[in-house]
Amino acid sequence: MKLNISGLFKKDENTASNKNKTVVFYGMPAHTKDSMEKYISIAGEPVAFTGSSEEVEKYKNKLYLGKYKVYSLNEILKMYPENEIWVTYKRANATAKTLLKKYSPEKIHFFEADLEYKKSCDFMGHFIDYRVDNFSPCCVGKKAIEKTKGSVAERIAHWEKYVKKLEEDIKNGVPNVCDGCKHLKEGFYRKNIKLDYICFATNHPGDVCNLRCSYCFVQNRFENFKKNQEGLTTYETIKQLSEMPEYNNSNITIELSNGELCANKHCNEIFDILLKMKWKARFVTNMTIYNEKFAEFLKTGRTVNVLTSLDSGTPETFKKIKQVDCLNKVVENLKKYPLEKANLRLKYIFLEGINDNEKDVMGFYNIVKDVNCKVIMISSDRCKPLTPKMRDLVVELVKKAKKDGIRVSKSAYLSRQDDKFIDNLVSEETKENEKQTDNSICKVINVDGKKITLDADLLKDNAKYVIILGENSNITINGNICINSDK
Ligand code: SF4
Repeated sequence: MKLNISGLFKKDENTASNKNKTVVFYGMPAHTKDSMEKYISIAGEPVAFTGSSEEVEKYKNKLYLGKYKVYSLNEILKMYPENEIWVTYKRANATAKTLLKKYSPEKIHFFEADLEYKKSCDFMGHFIDYRVDNFSPCCVGKKAIEKTKGSVAERIAHWEKYVKKLEEDIKNGVPNVCDGCKHLKEGFYRKNIKLDYICFATNHPGDVCNLRCSYCFVQNRFENFKKNQEGLTTYETIKQLSEMPEYNNSNITIELSNGELCANKHCNEIFDILLKMKWKARFVTNMTIYNEKFAEFLKTGRTVNVLTSLDSGTPETFKKIKQVDCLNKVVENLKKYPLEKANLRLKYIFLEGINDNEKDVMGFYNIVKDVNCKVIMISSDRCKPLTPKMRDLVVELVKKAKKDGIRVSKSAYLSRQDDKFIDNLVSEETKENEKQTDNSICKVINVDGKKITLDADLLKDNAKYVIILGENSNITINGNICINSDK
């Protein structure tokens, strides 16, 4: 293969070693077209492109940029087993994880994304759990908590210093607060520390919730704040942040998962700020209250996702867990809110002896379908291991979800073993689906010597079925068939 390494652009240190390598590009976002000269100068001419399933599907029967063939990742690996892959996306964390299942890290490269292979976690270096008198670099590490004070700007500067030191300690094997954390793994993570995710997950003065979930661990804080109003409220913190122009950009995500936002007395002022700023937002809400400004924000398309924990599939169990009888109201609001662009996720936290039964789990699943939710999240009660009965119910849920094209995700509050259990379950199901796609979906319903009967309708759009038969063979199709006489 001839490589073009004489581009006009600055070459990276990989350029010389790219000679004679088979290079594949991953991803076809809009900016790729204008960046091809630069990309080729860095990595060499690609033999083909691959990308997300939507991108691969789009270029199934045509050349990308009028020149490059596009294949699925599996096809690429069969055709070019030794290829080096270069990702064109600006944000590529999820792609990096997918690629690591198939490539060794040194074969994966990024043109745009600020990623490097190291020991870290998905939170480190870009995430702050912002609290009244402390912060955490994540929302799960019990030891990763740092006392702080001052203005929002001062606290962010403190966070930066703290994370830098933590990253250095991890790299140098110095004992640190992340030791033993299940999220600390080798993988591709941000090279540079840059805050882009501000999470309000624990409570601030004035925060409230209108439910009393049995597993909630912050109820005491609500009570304490009623007595002691010291510290900035969520609204005051967001207001200060909105006055820092360097943070008014679409790379910033604000997560509001502290109490029920729609029950907060500053709810409308908070939504006014969210609507005015360029930020994205993620909401954890119980969906019991309908708020017009929330609906207005959901329509902007700047919602990363909305997470609602149903934990039940019957009004009785809902009431038992949440202390309020309003499952029907929640379902009504899930249908009323404009959630089309909001990436809704419905969560099920398994609770022993309360909701670990088929009636609730299937009732939950029916609601998922009824409100057109495309992602379900499975959790346990703060890392308590799932019982065998719960695991059986998870297996059923995953099977049904896969069949209906609903994605199954995991909450951070699963034990290490359950995390792995669900990963294996999801990937087994995926492999099964891939196998079916590769081999077509025809079912042979009878084989009698050379006479084969298939249970299939072969007139589906773009369907291609190749059946090779010996001389004097007969084939009976239990459906329609279109024969191309040229072949
Ligand atoms: S405690 Fe775990 S999740 Fe938190 S920053 Fe450390 S490695 Fe990441």
